[in-house]
Amino acid sequence: MRTSAALANASLITFSAILTVVFAMAVSLLLYFAQGLNRTEMEQAQSLIEKSINGAEKSLHLTIKDYAFWGDAYKHLHRTVDFDWAYVRENFGPAQFDDFGFQGMFVLGPSDRTVYSVIEGKFKDISAAEWIGRPIGELVSDARAESKYEEVVTLITTLKGTPTLIAAAAITPGTDPTVEPDGRPSSVMMIVKILDPAKLDAIGENLGIKGLRIATDNDTTVPRVILHGDHNNVIQLQWSAVKPGRQLVIFVLPLIVLAGLTIFLMTWIILRRNTKDARALDENHELLRNSQAALAISESRFRDVAEASSDWIWETDIEGRVTYLSDRFETVTGLSKTQWLGIPIDNLVDLQHGTLLDWLRSNNRLCNTTTECSYTDVHLCKRIAKIAARNIDKQGFRGTATDVTEEIESRQRIEYLSKHDVLTGLPNRSQLREFLDSKFSTVLALNSPLAMLTIDLDRFKPVNDLLGHAAGDRVLNKIAARLKQCVRNEDIVARVGGDEFVMVISGKVEHSEVETICRRLIGLIEQAIVIDGQNIFVSASVGIAMAPRDASQAIELLRYSDIALYEAKTSGRGIWRFYDREMNDRIIERRRLESDLRYAINHSELRLQFQPRFRISDGKMMGAEALVRWEHPIRGLLTPEEFIPIAEETGLITALGDWVLHTACSQAIRWPEDLFVSVNVSSKEFQGGQLVERVKTALITSGLVAARLELEVTESVMLEDTDNALLLMRTLKSLGVRISMDDFGTGYSSLSYLRSFPFDGLKIDRSFVNRLSEDPVDLAIIKAVIGLGRALSLTVTAEGIETLEHLQLLDSVSCDEGQGYFLCRPMCASKFDDLLLSAKHVSR
Ligand code: C2E
Ligand code: MG
Ligand code: MG
Repeated sequence: MRTSAALANASLITFSAILTVVFAMAVSLLLYFAQGLNRTEMEQAQSLIEKSINGAEKSLHLTIKDYAFWGDAYKHLHRTVDFDWAYVRENFGPAQFDDFGFQGMFVLGPSDRTVYSVIEGKFKDISAAEWIGRPIGELVSDARAESKYEEVVTLITTLKGTPTLIAAAAITPGTDPTVEPDGRPSSVMMIVKILDPAKLDAIGENLGIKGLRIATDNDTTVPRVILHGDHNNVIQLQWSAVKPGRQLVIFVLPLIVLAGLTIFLMTWIILRRNTKDARALDENHELLRNSQAALAISESRFRDVAEASSDWIWETDIEGRVTYLSDRFETVTGLSKTQWLGIPIDNLVDLQHGTLLDWLRSNNRLCNTTTECSYTDVHLCKRIAKIAARNIDKQGFRGTATDVTEEIESRQRIEYLSKHDVLTGLPNRSQLREFLDSKFSTVLALNSPLAMLTIDLDRFKPVNDLLGHAAGDRVLNKIAARLKQCVRNEDIVARVGGDEFVMVISGKVEHSEVETICRRLIGLIEQAIVIDGQNIFVSASVGIAMAPRDASQAIELLRYSDIALYEAKTSGRGIWRFYDREMNDRIIERRRLESDLRYAINHSELRLQFQPRFRISDGKMMGAEALVRWEHPIRGLLTPEEFIPIAEETGLITALGDWVLHTACSQAIRWPEDLFVSVNVSSKEFQGGQLVERVKTALITSGLVAARLELEVTESVMLEDTDNALLLMRTLKSLGVRISMDDFGTGYSSLSYLRSFPFDGLKIDRSFVNRLSEDPVDLAIIKAVIGLGRALSLTVTAEGIETLEHLQLLDSVSCDEGQGYFLCRPMCASKFDDLLLSAKHVSR
């Protein structure tokens, strides 16, 4: 009777244990999934915020380089502080506060005294250290030191608890050969950008993250991003995290708990009916389990202590023959203890200089010193051990051997890593610098010629964007291997940036030989790279500078080959260019244009023209495209192609785009209500943020209905940051504005972009329309595009209609709308108003 009751009890316990495990697993799985969901959401937000802050620091880095390494700045801020040039003409003053939001801008003279300060766009007599509230001597000297490598210092820190970006750079003549350095220590330019609560909030809004702010509490369970600033400064940012996992738990957990409680209650009632014997049996089992566990713990503690130390102990007689080895000897070396007893210890270990016995016997050996030796273990692998020894009363020696193989290998690895690029194994910038220093350090080396090739991959970014970073890394590895094939042992090829490499070929090299090398290396790079069964094609541009012909200093050579690379890149793909002086002049010229453009935007030198767009079927005017011009006081009327790229590179595009948006909207408000105005938006404006806010402001200040504004964007917008572009376009659409894809057919238009992005129309590039009368294929393409547009409910516009024939052919394939010189040329606002007044809508 007793036995069967115990058996029944035991099976009930097993049953309830299984149930417990099942419920515990269900709850753990639920919590695990919920946590996973929360974590993914949080990690995405963290990565976006970090990327955004790093982006801001990078942009600061580029901007200060532009301003500080500049001949004009050297003349007007270093030689003398030209208030008129800097503040009145806004070359380094209020405009930079408006354009870039720099709250603090300073110049420190050769004696480190602050000689020029602009605080929040206003001139103020205050020293940089006083305004920043801490000593800046170290920052200033770092900036001067970095200028030797054409570099600047940027750092992230906190000012009164607010995260702040600071950049400092020595002011140098840059590439301007007309400006001679005056021999005094350089002045230092410093700019400060404070990420105040409003800026942080705007950064968050742009990323779709609510309430980005500085962390105010120490509650580590709230997600945060930790930024490491200078002087061990830690900046923590918080945001209002969305927790999708919580919803799941709130809904499902009560159901599981309810089911669990019901079943447990039933089991408990049954258990109570069982006899005390079952409990006694349980207690016995418990006692047994406890004593077994205690035994196991004690055994494992003993094993851990015995094996934790990697040292083995040895003893020799006075002749150096082994007399004792501890058990650890066998574990560490794998060799047999007994086989080594009686054998001279010098047969076992090798010292780099002399023998161990010599070292043991040497009179001046201090008892605390150690020596390093090597030995061969049972697997015939060479290992390194550190030996410590004591004399045993003239009878011999005794000591320990510590295996330090891993430590030495990791030291060597760190040394290797500091000089090599981790991804490709090529030398990195620091090894390249050492190599060049050795080449240029002696007069002998100075006379030996060398050629420097700066190589930059073309179209590498799309590989990363479309196939992912892992594929991008594999491509870089293959390219690195191919580049290595082009250099000899005495030459070097280094990776100095994401997709930028520098090759240095020493010895006397002729132009034609360098060209052969370029042809070979571009040929090798252009060969297909197979990644996961897919053929990937990249190309490369090369800039070349030669020493001593072009330069006699490493830093100059690097800069000149970079300038030549810039020319090669702007000339197309797969091209190489040798440096010549005119390139430098062109860059200086471009700098000048940049400075003029900054002035032009704030001093009414921009003009807007309007070119009407017509419905092809009946010639009705539908709206007009706003096209910007620049009336340069010396160069005359400049087309957008001449200055938009400069505006994009320098960040002036935001100010320029604002002017265009406001002028276009306030002009259109005077037109009949059925006409829209379309404004071109650069892809850089998509990246800069605030586009939605800017469009909203233009609509509100002009009073134009959103539906009457169309934004024209090109395909590059989607290529550069697809997810962000999609988000921005959807927000713009929610305002009510129309969006059309400009210059369709010139880029990489993928059908999936057209389908997934919220376009209202597409504009066929004028290169297709131009060839209409010559090439029937173009008509077929246009027909196909119109079909595609219709299927996706897009309005198709043909650009560049120059003849009656073009218009008739487009009509024959039912193209919706058209624009071109034949219909109407772009004209100034007043002429456009006259055109509307005379109601002379151009028709066929
Ligand atoms: P787009 O948006 O494709 O503008 C059409 C261009 O074609 C204009 O050149 C226009 O004058 C020209 N065009 C119009 N009809 C004909 C024709 O029948 N034949 C020929 N050969 N050309 C014609 P424009 O004004 O020089 O503008 C060039 C490009 O500059 C624009 O191309 C646009 O991408 C950019 N752009 C113009 N204004 C702005 C602006 O305010 N902001 C930005 N970000 N870009 C602008
Ligand atoms: Mg356009
Ligand atoms: Mg176009």
